[in-house]
Amino acid sequence: MFSRPLGRISSAFATLNRPRLLLFTSLSGASLFMFSCSSCRGSRAKAEPIMSDQDMNHPHAHHTGKTGAHRFRNPWLSATSHGLGDVIKWQIHGTRPKLPEPGSLPVEETDWKAVEQPPPDAVQVTWIGHASFLVQFDGVNVLTDPIFSERCSPVSFAGPKRIVPPPFPTDRLPRVDAVIISHNHYDHLDVGTVKALRDKVGMWYVPLGIRSWLLDSGVKPERVVELDWWQEHALPVETRQQQQQQVGAKQDGNNSVRVVCTPCQHFSGRSLFDRDATLWASWSLVGPTKRFYFAGDTGYRSVPEGVEDSQLEALNLPICPVFKDIGEKLGPFDLACIPIGAYIPRWFMSPVHCNPRDAVDLHVDIRSKQSVGMHWGTFVLSDEPVLEPPVQLALELQAKALPLDQFVALRHGQTRAYRSNP
Ligand SMILES: [Zn+2]
Repeated sequence: MFSRPLGRISSAFATLNRPRLLLFTSLSGASLFMFSCSSCRGSRAKAEPIMSDQDMNHPHAHHTGKTGAHRFRNPWLSATSHGLGDVIKWQIHGTRPKLPEPGSLPVEETDWKAVEQPPPDAVQVTWIGHASFLVQFDGVNVLTDPIFSERCSPVSFAGPKRIVPPPFPTDRLPRVDAVIISHNHYDHLDVGTVKALRDKVGMWYVPLGIRSWLLDSGVKPERVVELDWWQEHALPVETRQQQQQQVGAKQDGNNSVRVVCTPCQHFSGRSLFDRDATLWASWSLVGPTKRFYFAGDTGYRSVPEGVEDSQLEALNLPICPVFKDIGEKLGPFDLACIPIGAYIPRWFMSPVHCNPRDAVDLHVDIRSKQSVGMHWGTFVLSDEPVLEPPVQLALELQAKALPLDQFVALRHGQTRAYRSNP
């Protein structure tokens, strides 16, 4: 990579500020820099220290590294990883999209009446932007990957900046029973938002390795649950039992929502030195009457350079097998939030980000009755036109003969309640 003309490389670095800083810092964290992850040591005692590349089905196949250098990985043939050379190649050859015309991403007034009194027989969702949702079902209020800050970046003066403001401030939120965090990238785990919310939230659910970061941000230790893939915790449902009785939920004394940390295909890191030192996850929430799936940030397959989506069927590339697994074990889901944006260039993004085609396949795999698109229209992190993901999503649904309203993109701030048949 260093044989490229110096001028082009330095101009590539010059463009790495602003929107690309987040991905650059994360993607270029070379695995040569092995640091101990103290938060993971507890679970490491149960894990094999070094896993064979072939042993993808081992329950700890995603743990890797020797003692004192604990890391995580995607243990599937569908995953590939890119290094610094690929980041530079993208920067040189990529085309930054134009910002959309003002008003093309309208912010809708949130339906506060519905948020304060969510229908007891539905899963209600409000899109805050990017991967942040308020999800209400079975008497619990859940926030996903909340970010209310102006930028998703290690610094406040540079890095990807919102193109749509948050629809409301954090103090407008109702009681929050749980926050679920998918991984530690800046667009999913934001220090300013965590500090603003820390006294309002009942429980914080994070994948392995993120607990200590939350404690450093002032969250009380008793409020943090850190889980490995397929581990779970029971979130008590205490405050709205009456509502559940109204819709005939089983009152068997075990009135809780199972919060299950489930796999996905991604990576982690907040600096050059902590690549994959903390785990990434999707989350499956199984309540007494409703089931919700949050895909987090994920890829579905790795598409080599030069391969078009129209060739995928013929090429039969490996797909990430966990989504079918999740659907069989924990589905069907009444609502799923699935990423549909940040996918161009496809050769570079596909291992870690779904495009709408991948998202529709994932929606089918997990057995989602109703899905909502996320990870688009809020921060510009990639090269596709900003307004393209929902358009492509509709085309993919059409191509698979699925109803267009089965997987939708919301407007920022919009609240929707979904009722589905058992
Ligand atoms: Zn990410």
